[in-house]
Amino acid sequence: LVQVENDVVAREYAHGVYETVVKRNPNETEFHQAVKEIIESLIPVLAKQPKYMKHGILERLVEPERLITFRVPWVNDQGVTQVNRGFRVQFNGAIGPYKGGLRFHPSVNASIIKFLGFEQTLKNSLTGQSIGGGKGGSDFDPKGKSDNEIMRFTQSFMTELYKYIGPDTDVPAGDIGVGAREIGYMFGQYKRISGAYESGVLTGKGIIYGGSLGRTEATGYGCVYFVNEMLNSKGLSFDGSTVVVSGSGNVAIYSIEKAVQLGAKVVACSDSNGYIHDPNGICLETVRRLKEVERTRISEYVKEHPHATYHAGCNGIWSIPCDIALPSATQNEIDEESARLLVSNGVKAIGEGANMPSTLDAIDVFLQAGVLFGPAKAANAGGVAVSALEMSQNSMRYSWSFHEVDDKLHAIMKNIYRSAVQAAEEYGHPGNLVVGANIAGFTKVADAMIAQGVV
Ligand code: GLU
Repeated sequence: LVQVENDVVAREYAHGVYETVVKRNPNETEFHQAVKEIIESLIPVLAKQPKYMKHGILERLVEPERLITFRVPWVNDQGVTQVNRGFRVQFNGAIGPYKGGLRFHPSVNASIIKFLGFEQTLKNSLTGQSIGGGKGGSDFDPKGKSDNEIMRFTQSFMTELYKYIGPDTDVPAGDIGVGAREIGYMFGQYKRISGAYESGVLTGKGIIYGGSLGRTEATGYGCVYFVNEMLNSKGLSFDGSTVVVSGSGNVAIYSIEKAVQLGAKVVACSDSNGYIHDPNGICLETVRRLKEVERTRISEYVKEHPHATYHAGCNGIWSIPCDIALPSATQNEIDEESARLLVSNGVKAIGEGANMPSTLDAIDVFLQAGVLFGPAKAANAGGVAVSALEMSQNSMRYSWSFHEVDDKLHAIMKNIYRSAVQAAEEYGHPGNLVVGANIAGFTKVADAMIAQGVV
């Protein structure tokens, strides 16, 4: 009876917190979505551990410590002044310096940055490393910009951002639209302003100036390692399987590489305009050259591989029958209908390489169908985990070999899988890794917040 009463109290409390989030952050649908998923997962924890309610942990967790917005003025190649908006959310610093990527994409706004920062807080906790949650970016669109425009923009962005970051304060990295080139320009500008060589202020740096071997591969490799754990638990594996990966950025490319190494055939990938389907298995060399060197569209692929087909639009990629789907493009790319299609075509496992790529309805479809589902904050945590290893190496002024980093990444992904499985079991949702990852990420942050008092 006590347990039932506790459940009711916890549910009311959690829903009350969600209502406040909606009221306080009107129209921020992505942020609401991320909070809603967490709130539902945490009800059994709140019921069992009322201390979290007493200490107002949930109320504090959903309110970022601070959100910084700033003007980013820059001059384009035609000599015309442009203005973009920059953001940095320092979401939660209970377990370490704020840590999380920067996204340059026209869709970036406060809602997107807050959903990402919130997810990052729990993801970072789940890695087992001492990193708090942060995120940032700009509505700047890097598409079609010259190298000089990218440099002027990133320098201007850093001129403002540098006031708020530091190796022990807040450590940004890349995300959509921000890769090695942008991190390089930002590191140069930070160094110039600060007048010191603070290697640990950014991660994802080039290897010759403080980057970590294995960081580029980490998110994609980590996602495949995670999915591999899920598959193995059911006696399945990548070997001989058909895989669909959406996206063609850093996460997608290294997921494809690792999946192929483990014996899979990857038959499709995409960019924001459309997708390619190559039933023989896509040629990763071509995709890499098109996206990383030529920085052009994926549609060019079919010119070199005429047996492959190009299809405009992104949803269609989920109609390709596959055993394993790795959504690695962007948020909400799999809706309920796409999820149903994947399930009816016999998909066995989903690994979220992107952040929040499945809608809440899509997740329900997968879980109800008994599909193995690796939620983003567990499956894609390998990137930020190796970022934390980059920070460690910077502090030591020492670097590990590729194999040392990759072994650590592998161990971290196995550990995340184990923690999520255990938490799901302990709180009455065996096999539900959405609930498991949320709970395992939450309890560490929550206990640190209680230990540190009302701050
Ligand atoms: N943007 C990546 C993520 O979503 C990496 C962040 C980092 O390395 O700090 O986790």
